[in-house]
Amino acid sequence: MEKEIDEKRQGTSLVLQEKEGNTKKLFIESYGCAMNFSDSEIVASILTEQGYNTTQKLEEADLVLVNTCSIRDKAEQTVRKRLEKYNAVKRSINPGMKVGVLGCMAERLKSQFLEEEKIVDMVVGPDAYKDLPNLLKEVEEGRDAINVILSKDETYGDISPVRLQSNGINAFVSITRGCDNMCTFCVVPFTRGRERSREPQSIIEEIQDLWNRGFKEVCLLGQNVDSYLWYGGGLKKDFDKASEIQKATAVDFSQLLEMCAVQFPKMRFRFSTSNPQDMHEEVLHVIAKYHNVCNYIHLPVQSGSTRILKEMNRQHTREEYMELVDKIKRIIPGCSISQDIITGFPTETEEDHQDTLSLMEYVEYDFGYMFAYSERPGTLAARKMEDDVPEADKMRRLQEIVDLQQKLSAQRTARFLNQTVEVLIEKESKKSDAHWSGRNSENVVTVFPKENYKPGDFVLVKVTDCTTATLIGEAVGYSEMQVN
Ligand code: SF4
Repeated sequence: MEKEIDEKRQGTSLVLQEKEGNTKKLFIESYGCAMNFSDSEIVASILTEQGYNTTQKLEEADLVLVNTCSIRDKAEQTVRKRLEKYNAVKRSINPGMKVGVLGCMAERLKSQFLEEEKIVDMVVGPDAYKDLPNLLKEVEEGRDAINVILSKDETYGDISPVRLQSNGINAFVSITRGCDNMCTFCVVPFTRGRERSREPQSIIEEIQDLWNRGFKEVCLLGQNVDSYLWYGGGLKKDFDKASEIQKATAVDFSQLLEMCAVQFPKMRFRFSTSNPQDMHEEVLHVIAKYHNVCNYIHLPVQSGSTRILKEMNRQHTREEYMELVDKIKRIIPGCSISQDIITGFPTETEEDHQDTLSLMEYVEYDFGYMFAYSERPGTLAARKMEDDVPEADKMRRLQEIVDLQQKLSAQRTARFLNQTVEVLIEKESKKSDAHWSGRNSENVVTVFPKENYKPGDFVLVKVTDCTTATLIGEAVGYSEMQVN
């Protein structure tokens, strides 16, 4: 029997799930993208069945797991620092604790991790979490354990995630795993394998469970959600070999999104991450048609130069990306769009950089994630291209892009002034315990006085002021999404 522990933090309760009778303690922390945080909830669920409850205290843990990211060198350095921390705790306070590394860095380094980091007892790749019980047995018998086999069909659709440090309002639900796109700078296809989609019914059941437990917003998650295609299981790339009946009954992303919106009319839906080359117009029409599907699209572009996009193996040109943005703005007026941009990709010239700046001006992004190119071992770019843009140029270009985005974000946020927006209350404002904070449909943080409202309420807020990234206003009542 599971019980929920209320832990007061920031004026909102964090739900920790504990299984009575479990005596072992699991400390798990995650780095990187939302997929990793969602996977850690799968891992916690698998280990709950092995007698573990989660703890926030490293010094009392029997098992310490870190879910790692490999997207940039800095992310891997962060993990190595954490392992040093674990080592210090193990030597001083908790000699019995066992340490395991999960996620993309585990998959990229494999047994090398065990050689390089003596504190590590177990290395588990993103597709091998169901093998944890066996691997733990090996560790308990004093042997190092490793499983980094990538799967053709694993989606963990049959595992009910344990919501870690959840606010009980928003949750991630993963719908696909892996990526077939092979962008030349990216390690994901090597660390997370080929694309495969999860059965729609298991997704609906997980959302139903979340709804029953009072959650109000779901983010449908995948490395490339637009590529979602369920046709009975197996890899996306084998769809051509499917039977006529499988093809006729296949479910793509727009159909899945509509299924969710119709089945849970009072639940709000977001999704991430999209890929311009795989996005279908039908998805835009579903967003426009359903009030409970948010007017926000995260649409990585990486570069505004068609020549660099080609070098990155992004299957679209600058012009095609702009056409997609035109379509989004036509079909979903006022839709928020955010970006991922990489500066200083090999051979990038000043002219290519100017193309990125002018594309940003054209799209008028709401916000973005901007990084300088970090060569990743094993990627095509690392094998075939010299990392030839001087660090100083990379940093100067990155600063110019960040400054421009700052300007655009301020313009975009200001469009809500004197408007009334629908906000889902998530927590107390960071700056004031007399104010609630939540996001509107366009994913803009909105802050307003608490009055008698509470977390999980859908509230209409009249916007009276704003900063670059935050709206400030007054509540004027409940929205149509509110369940009384
Ligand atoms: S679409 Fe490209 S950048 Fe995104 S996960 Fe796939 S390979 Fe990486």
